[in-house]
Amino acid sequence: MAQVKISQVRKAYGSLEVLHGVDIDIPDGSFSILVGPSGCGKSTLLRMIAGLEVITSGDIIIGDKVVNDLSSPKRDIAMVFQNYALYPHLTVAQNMGFSLKVARVPKAIIAEKVKDAAEMLGLTDYLNRRPQKLSGGQRQRVAMGRAIVRDPSVFLFDEPLSNLDAKMRGQMRTELRAMHRRLGSTMIYVTHDQIEAMTMADQIIVMNDGYAQQVGAPLELYDRPANLFVAGFIGAPAMNFLSAKAAGGQVHLADGTRVQIQIADDFEGDVIVGIRPEHLVLDANGPLEITVDEIEPTGSETHISATTQQGVPIKMVTSERVTADSGETLTIGYEVKKLHLFDAKSTNRISISEQ
Ligand code: ADP
Ligand code: MG
Repeated sequence: MAQVKISQVRKAYGSLEVLHGVDIDIPDGSFSILVGPSGCGKSTLLRMIAGLEVITSGDIIIGDKVVNDLSSPKRDIAMVFQNYALYPHLTVAQNMGFSLKVARVPKAIIAEKVKDAAEMLGLTDYLNRRPQKLSGGQRQRVAMGRAIVRDPSVFLFDEPLSNLDAKMRGQMRTELRAMHRRLGSTMIYVTHDQIEAMTMADQIIVMNDGYAQQVGAPLELYDRPANLFVAGFIGAPAMNFLSAKAAGGQVHLADGTRVQIQIADDFEGDVIVGIRPEHLVLDANGPLEITVDEIEPTGSETHISATTQQGVPIKMVTSERVTADSGETLTIGYEVKKLHLFDAKSTNRISISEQ
């Protein structure tokens, strides 16, 4: 077990800088997830922690050691990739024990570690099979087993579930959490899937464009996104955004309605009001009129795609059963305390409170 500290880390490929000074503390024993869109620098950062990529500047500290100049095998980490990278000519047991064999660990100890890992991963009956005779989920488990037998201080995962079908992904998420509870090791996990991040992480690091945008517990990010990017990225369907102006302690929406809210620092100017789809309610006396485009019942809830009178698309999710044809008008409302407010220019969150 070890904490990991990433301090002012930059990465440039030639003249192209792809990470711009990232600071993250990964607590000892935590399940921390780096999440962000494709190309934002997640794999690059993980590979730098692993020692597979040179750090342009800054420090990576594992435990209490700066590891910038340590080779990968000396960092006490184990990495699991999306493409399982198993040896096709070796059995499951041989694949799992391979790194220990290379490190000249005695055979009996390898056998014991492989047996324990196989039990944890439900692979006991497959130890003598070769990878091509396994399902995708089983192959991914072998790749995890290969990491577990090394008993590293830090596990690094790069989109390990992306090649699996939806059902298997769901199952593996639960198993990974259970594995984390059992091993108690520090785990750093990369994904582009915010649901994966929300359901598995103790701590989420949202990344975009080579910057860490916000670090926090899943529901902290959900309840108090630090900027428009995080607000739009975390949560599905995504948060609705409406343009407005803040003046005199009120927010004036484009449709002419006003919302009375206390704005921190008496902010005035262009703002974006954020409302999550599940915080909109049908309300005959509500302030917003929307025109229905599409209604999708999922059984447990109804998803409504609509357009405001100003032509802004809006999504609403309700546990009520709504029947309306496309083109019909619905009147909706919201609780002011559920609104989010962002500075349109800086995109940063503005603190508000209901009056
Ligand atoms: P992610 O894992 O978040 O999808 P990556 O870390 O793989 O993103 O990539 C971040 C950025 O760095 C991308 O713009 C990518 O094109 C660039 N990049 C990654 N590897 C290299 C490389 N070896 N040479 C040049 N650019 C690279
Ligand atoms: Mg990647």
